[in-house]
Amino acid sequence: MKKYLGVDRDKISWFPTIDAEKCTGCGACAEFCPNNVFELVDGVMTVANPLNCVPGCDKCAAECPVSAIKFPTKEELLEEIERLRNAEKLNKPEA
Ligand code: SF4
Ligand code: SF4
Repeated sequence: MKKYLGVDRDKISWFPTIDAEKCTGCGACAEFCPNNVFELVDGVMTVANPLNCVPGCDKCAAECPVSAIKFPTKEELLEEIERLRNAEKLNKPEA
């Protein structure tokens, strides 16, 4: 299982969301991302593999010509990781 700052990647809610009303299906995001996060399905761009997205990366947002790609803020990411790390500590039995 992939980890990020000591936390299981699949617990971290960092991935792009696409505003379907703005998206034109141009494909620029899918072409740009090296991690196969996006997939064009019947002309509609989808976030097919959200957990392939690297926490903290938001570079594809700048590639979208209509600003349809959004991410949480970096502050929200760090707060979430802190919360998850604290929860993990609480669940571990005392050594
Ligand atoms: S933020 Fe980075 S890793 Fe995530 S989908 Fe965009 S380009 Fe890919
Ligand atoms: S780059 Fe923007 S408009 Fe183009 S497919 Fe991706 S989300 Fe849609």
